[in-house]
Amino acid sequence: PAVEEILDRLCATVPDYPKPGIVFKDLTPAFADAEGLRAIVDAIVAPFRGEFDLVAGIEARGFLLASAAAYATGTGVLTVRKAGKLPRETFTEEYALEYGTAALEVHTTDIPQGARVLVLDDVLATGGTTGAAVRLVDRCGGTVVGIGVVLELAALGGRDALAGQRVHSLQRLG
Ligand code: IMP
Repeated sequence: PAVEEILDRLCATVPDYPKPGIVFKDLTPAFADAEGLRAIVDAIVAPFRGEFDLVAGIEARGFLLASAAAYATGTGVLTVRKAGKLPRETFTEEYALEYGTAALEVHTTDIPQGARVLVLDDVLATGGTTGAAVRLVDRCGGTVVGIGVVLELAALGGRDALAGQRVHSLQRLG
């Protein structure tokens, strides 16, 4: 089956999570399904095959995708972590949340100079999270070749916020 059909069947929708009024898309059943995981990973890298050396995964669900995608394509993984988790010198980029800010970090020396980087995450909403990851890769001397996400919540404008980047989503909602 096509990946969209798999996502229709296996993506759970959770009303009022994490707070009232938010409709949360939960991909854990799709990741837990053998056929689903393979279809998602194959489809998310497909447009970028041969064009990247490193896959950046955003903590935490992006790690699942990045690890599998890197293994499948013979590339490496960059861990883009929530602030305060990495032990050596880091770059930090803040991004806006609905209330306040959060920050992502990478080790300053984890990207080989000139590496071509594919950034992966599970869901694209406002684009704040992936935008911060793109800035981190830039600061490390890498080149972002594209952004891959499983679901794009189109009404939240993430694609526009990431203007200038190639954004590939497996399914657009809203
Ligand atoms: P953004 O920064 O607004 O684009 O939000 C994207 C980030 O929040 C990603 O790291 C997602 O994992 C998470 N996120 C936002 N909405 C959802 C959702 O409905 N389901 C799962 N994750 C979400």
